[in-house]
Amino acid sequence: MERETVSVMEIFTSLQGEGPELGARHLFVRFYGCNRRCVYCDTEAALKLSGPCRIEQTPGRGDFRERPNPLNLEEVAHLILSGSVQAGGIDALTLTGGEPLLYAPFLRELLPLLDHRFPCLLETNGLLSDALQSVLPWIDVVSMDVKIPSATGEAADWEGHRRFLQTGGAKIGYVKTVLSPDVKEDELHLLAELIRSGGCPPLVLQPVSGSERDRSWIERLFDIQAGLREAGIDSVRIIPQVHKLLGVL
Ligand code: SF4
Repeated sequence: MERETVSVMEIFTSLQGEGPELGARHLFVRFYGCNRRCVYCDTEAALKLSGPCRIEQTPGRGDFRERPNPLNLEEVAHLILSGSVQAGGIDALTLTGGEPLLYAPFLRELLPLLDHRFPCLLETNGLLSDALQSVLPWIDVVSMDVKIPSATGEAADWEGHRRFLQTGGAKIGYVKTVLSPDVKEDELHLLAELIRSGGCPPLVLQPVSGSERDRSWIERLFDIQAGLREAGIDSVRIIPQVHKLLGVL
């Protein structure tokens, strides 16, 4: 049987800069490729199908060496395990992209090799339900995006997000949505309905990068937060991308 290989864009350690895991030390594996094209995407290379793999040499320093893709299972497992040891331990492994669920068959083979040494956080655009189902036993926390058209510039797929929420069940640690100042009331209404239909996981509102210094927008975000609470969502937090504010990966 042909062994699965994968195109990894980069492997590095940093703080988790988004969502409720904020500030924890994570080892990130970022995969090439994505099934979406959000206009605010900050990982342009993740939209390519492949390229070189950058591997951090000193934990947290961003000193990379490159090697060619694709990588096989044993290579990726070794890079993850040795990277976590070099960092003196990590709080979690984050699978990110791009869209890591594009590589679900690979992840099904990789994750058991890691033997639950550390929690595994999956960052995903929240649409590939079948792929999620196939890797869910090895994932501890799903960080699920909900894509809002006024921010992404793409059509919404509310039904796709609804299926994903149901598939993830209790493992959906939180839902994150990037909001731009162009956000519309009907989008917020649909967002609240979606979150309620999925059992009300915590919701993170992430102002689109660069907008967090606009005072009037932040004040509107406070109103949006209050409105979502009134709509029955108990936990609504406003969290910008902290790693960008600190100028780290
Ligand atoms: S889903 Fe994520 S990686 Fe894909 S285009 Fe959107 S922001 Fe970029």
